[in-house]
Amino acid sequence: MQIVTEPSEARQALASLPRPLGFVPTMGALHEGHLALLRQARRRDTSVAASIFVNPMQFGQGEDFERYPRAVEGDRRHCEAAGVDVLFVPSPKAMYPADFSTSVDAGALGDAYEGAIRPEHFRGVATIVVKLLHVIGPDALYLGQKDAQQTAVLRRVVRDLNFPIAVEIVETVREADGLALSSRNAYLNERERAAAPTLHRALVALRDALQEGAPKEAAIARAHQTLDPSAKADYFDVVDALTFTPIDPLRPEAFVIGAARFGTTRLIDNLWIRT
Ligand code: AMP
Repeated sequence: MQIVTEPSEARQALASLPRPLGFVPTMGALHEGHLALLRQARRRDTSVAASIFVNPMQFGQGEDFERYPRAVEGDRRHCEAAGVDVLFVPSPKAMYPADFSTSVDAGALGDAYEGAIRPEHFRGVATIVVKLLHVIGPDALYLGQKDAQQTAVLRRVVRDLNFPIAVEIVETVREADGLALSSRNAYLNERERAAAPTLHRALVALRDALQEGAPKEAAIARAHQTLDPSAKADYFDVVDALTFTPIDPLRPEAFVIGAARFGTTRLIDNLWIRT
């Protein structure tokens, strides 16, 4: 595995790799969720590139950019073991020169739900991913279902900006108790960790209620009742997978989405309705 830190170095390392090339962008602190993306890329593509970059542009004021977990040495080993050919680990300076001023805005798609709570988040996500796609030039981009709104934003960006790239979405990897793996789970104390799986259970309750014929409002109320009382829900809803606008009744392709705070830690989760 070759580790590169400059965009020019990355281009050079990638130029000689056999195609198709799969690409997995991450912010590091890799867990089994990230590894599922790397493994799927490894199975489907001839060559695999990954990136590790904690992107300052997608964190708002007062968010956890500073304390976001960083684990470069372990990440390197995970990538090597997963069969990554080229690992791109740029410095913030390499991606954002001092007078950086261009950004990518995915429009209304990035304004609701996570975008409403984190106003500049999806501009930061879309901008860094477009930059990475220009540097890496992959044939396929692997994204986790875990970040459902991010998949909608990035599917739109890839289509709107004519990237000749297939977007592959990989199912969420969960702990045995249903909690979706996330680098942010490390922030939970014991009590919060015990309560956190109720976010997934709430989504299951919402979906089941809809499938049993309950009206959407009643189904959402069921989700709120299922969430641990110590948690604070930000939202529960059912949205079209591509437009991320609310739908009723439930039909594919959709996401049943939810976000809640456990102490100071905000977790998001979703169920992907495909059939
Ligand atoms: P991050 O490092 O959090 O930016 O995540 C990098 C990629 O891994 C994104 O496409 C995420 O959606 C994906 N990912 C994160 N957690 C999981 C998970 N539990 N299961 C599947 N994919 C995940």
